[in-house]
Parts: sequence; structure tokens; C-alpha cells
Amino acid sequence: MSKHKNAFEIFRFLDKSNCRECGEKTCLAFAGAVFLGQKRIHECPKLSREALERFAGEPDDRNTNEQNPEEYLQKLKSEVSRLDLAEASERVGARFSGGKLTLKILGKDFGIDAEGNLSAEIHVNPWVAVPFLVHVLRGEGLPASAKWVPFRELGGGRELYPLFQKRCEEPMKRVADTHTDLFDHIVHVFSGRQVEEQFESDISVVLHPLPKVPVMICYWQPEDGLESSLHIFFDETADRNLDIGSVFTLGTGLAQMFTKIALRHGILPSTPIR
Ligand code: SF4
Repeated sequence: MSKHKNAFEIFRFLDKSNCRECGEKTCLAFAGAVFLGQKRIHECPKLSREALERFAGEPDDRNTNEQNPEEYLQKLKSEVSRLDLAEASERVGARFSGGKLTLKILGKDFGIDAEGNLSAEIHVNPWVAVPFLVHVLRGEGLPASAKWVPFRELGGGRELYPLFQKRCEEPMKRVADTHTDLFDHIVHVFSGRQVEEQFESDISVVLHPLPKVPVMICYWQPEDGLESSLHIFFDETADRNLDIGSVFTLGTGLAQMFTKIALRHGILPSTPIR
């Protein structure tokens, strides 16, 4: 993650011409990618003298949780080895037994011991493991408030929202459009729960990537010439139970997982949920 407080700190030094030479559609999206460590500031060829001075000494090689997820994971694990796991378990509402903290992730056990060893009933992907560790290390352990907000309303989310749309909501919508059984799959395989339709959507499904960090996916079917749409909502406490980078990682990780499942199986389970 960047040493900057938010993407706007980076954006204000950019050219703002949205020329796309960096590979992003807008300067704001580029700033978001730099903030998340997915791009290097020097990938913008239009940096002013002021910006070059400001970012002098900025590492010119990617060193982030996305580019080097294993490295970032190791760093977090070593922090856990200095943590009081019993206290952390109480804070985040985890089970603590045999020196191990265990939480349910998408309905499956996911644990860590005092040496920083992870154990899980599911594959240990960095997009799951990093938010899990950030939650254990720094999460406030607040109970969900049941107030749903879009990503852009979380602390630090506004600047990153264009990128979040591109990497999470748009790919997930493409899967939902072509695999209408996506929501059945979510409910049955990932211990999701269909809830009463929210925000006048046609389908609303809640998942728990972490017990205290629920995610709600709302889908609007195409109607009367209008395109379908899909939006993700988080509990308003999400940015205090995690950091915004980890909320981003969870959302984009879910989108990647659904896309992979759709590609691999072609047809998803077909039991209707509505
Ligand atoms: S290359 Fe620089 S100026 Fe052009 S869109 Fe990217 S950040 Fe903006």
C-alpha cells in the first residue's frame, strides 16, 4: 500500500489531461492505482517538475500487496506473531482454542496460530488471507450496523471508486448477465443469504467474507431497454473493521473468484433461489 493518505494526494500532482498513456482511463483512476500500489507513479509520462521532485525517491519497482502478495502476507504474519491472539479473538469475535484464532470466511474455518501459520478449509488465496490478517491485526471489531453503503462512501473510498467499479462491479455484472445462476451459487456454496430486495433491486444477496464485514450484492435485471446493473454495498463499519485497501481487495477478489468459477464450469448450479 502507498505511503500516501489517500489517492487524492497523488491526483493533485497529476496532469489531469486523462490522456490514457499510463494505461488507465483517467488520471483519477491512475492515482487510485498508485495509491493501491498497482502502478508506479513514474508510469505517468507527464509528471511536472514539481511532481518529479515530490515523488523523488519513490520506489520505481512495484512493491505492493497485489504485485507481491506473498511478501505482504509474510509481513502481516510476522506482525501477528507479536500479537496477543486471545485478546484479538475477543476483539473480532473469533474462536480461540489451542492457541489458534479461527474465524468463518464465506462459511469456512480460517485460522492462524501464534507463529503466524495459517490453516483453512478453503484455499489460502492472498485476497482472502490479507484482509483476514488486517482484520485480526487492526480491525476495531465493531458489530455490523445493518446500514449499507456503497464503496465510495467508506473512508478513502471515493477516490478509489472508479477503480473499484472497473475491477469489481463491472466484472461481477458480466458474470451475472451471462450466468443467471450466479446468485444460487453464492447462496449454496459460499453460505450466502438472499435478503429482501434492497434499493429496488431484483436480487439482493449477502455474503460474509469476514463475520463482521458483510457484503451485499444487488442486481438489477435489464428492463424496458435499460441495461442491467450490479452494485456492491458494505456495512458502514467496514472501513473500521478493515482498511480501505483490504475492502477493495475483498471486493475484487470476490469478482475474480466468480469470474473463474463461471469460466471453469460454464454452467453454475441451477437450483432457483427466487
Ligand atoms: S498518463 Fe498521466 S496524464 Fe495521462 S491519464 Fe495517465 S496519469 Fe493522467
